[in-house]
Amino acid sequence: MDTPIYDIAILGCGASGIAAGNKLLNNPSCNFVIFEGASRIGGRTFTDKIGRDIPVDMGGSWIHSNEVNPMAQDPAISGFQTSLDKEFPIYVYVNGKPLSSGDQIVKNFTHAKEGISPITDISAAEHLAEEEPIITDIGDLYFGNAASGKSLHTTSMQDESSTEPFGFGLLFKDGMGNFITSKAGKLFSEGKIQLNTTICEIDYSKRSVIKMQDIHGNAHYAKKIIVTASIGVLKGGLIRFMPELPESHLSALDALEMGNMEKFVFALDESFFEKRGITKNTNYMIIDEGQPPLFAHLRTAGNPTITVFTGGDVSKALISKGKFAAEKIILERLKTVFGDGFTPSLNAVDSSNWTQNPLTEGSYSGAKIGGHWARKALTAPVDQRIHLAGEAIAHSPNWYVHIYGAIASGEIAAEKALGTQSRSAKI
Ligand SMILES: Cc1cc2nc3c(=O)[nH]c(=O)nc-3n(C[C@H](O)[C@H](O)[C@H](O)COP(=O)(O)OP(=O)(O)OC[C@H]3O[C@@H](n4cnc5c(N)ncnc54)[C@H](O)[C@@H]3O)c2cc1C
Repeated sequence: MDTPIYDIAILGCGASGIAAGNKLLNNPSCNFVIFEGASRIGGRTFTDKIGRDIPVDMGGSWIHSNEVNPMAQDPAISGFQTSLDKEFPIYVYVNGKPLSSGDQIVKNFTHAKEGISPITDISAAEHLAEEEPIITDIGDLYFGNAASGKSLHTTSMQDESSTEPFGFGLLFKDGMGNFITSKAGKLFSEGKIQLNTTICEIDYSKRSVIKMQDIHGNAHYAKKIIVTASIGVLKGGLIRFMPELPESHLSALDALEMGNMEKFVFALDESFFEKRGITKNTNYMIIDEGQPPLFAHLRTAGNPTITVFTGGDVSKALISKGKFAAEKIILERLKTVFGDGFTPSLNAVDSSNWTQNPLTEGSYSGAKIGGHWARKALTAPVDQRIHLAGEAIAHSPNWYVHIYGAIASGEIAAEKALGTQSRSAKI
């Protein structure tokens, strides 16, 4: 059988690739395919199961800012059980002791959030330089570890404050990963998705067709392509472009980098939460002398779990110790707050490693200091035939990084590739 020449090939079947594919399905004359390198779809939205089959999101989980997030208007959500995570308590523990004025300190932190200039860029470390140490620790969680997934000195205040806030919002009891992958039903049934197909070469030197090669040595052909691989993958060199991407795109990629947000999730018996009167989503900021501050989210979507978020240098140091050693370190830190009785069974612990995953090369994008401009620059197609899409690309200027940003970017890239772009890039 002859190798087909597709009208459009989509690289990657995460939130962005699925959204692009669904857009193309509306156009029956378009012959397209999605190449996914992994053995599953969903990319950086992935729901695992731990303990007694408790769903846990190891990647994206919240529909942040749900009052204004267009994703929250998706009618398909009504078929899923959701939990609104808005009015939540925050406890601050310092050296194992709850601060009696914990809530007040968190409120005092508000002033450290003010005065962020959307024009002049500085690092979060510089922004917090004058603050007392406890505010810097809380800021480390608020701007860095639990937000940008980067360390304070590499977190761009301009980039972080120009997208919608990562404040809490809507959660799926059965997991965001399951919600996103449920969107791919028709793409699967129509045979549009090819799993285990990592593209490692994109040759666009010929005008007539783009040739792609996968890691098994198979060649694939398309007239146009939509690349949703993370900027970590694009920067890491897994995909060789021939000719090289233009200087405009290379310098834009250089101005961005991947964060390293990782999750450590522990499933517990309901009695653990009942004993402590924790009935809904609750947050703990854990600050121990000589240790990096930790952010823990309890009862995510009402499930009996504790999720600890780490980012930047903290994640890198933990990962370098190996999965089980890293999980043990986090578990020991949680004991300072929850007591020695905090011992989830082995099958009830899970942790992510987006940092070392060759198909992600990190958690999500962040601008280097002064690099925010690059997100818009990457919306320009290469040679009118290669469209970059995904969370890092600011097709929707104030939703990059978010799952909705990835979805909108995929849809807009599909419209551009079809030549039917009707939608304003300003969402
Ligand atoms: C720990 C963590 C927590 C997060 N929390 C939230 C949250 O609460 N709310 C929120 O809105 N966002 C959150 N995010 C961000 C959100 O998950 C991402 O923005 C979104 O999932 C990215 O989707 P994407 O389609 O752009 O990229 P991806 O999901 O990475 O999809 C790209 C796909 O391309 C595939 N691929 C890569 N290279 C190749 C190749 N060479 N050939 C073929 N296939 C390839 C990958 O396997 C992947 O499936 C979080 C992310 C992480 C990691």
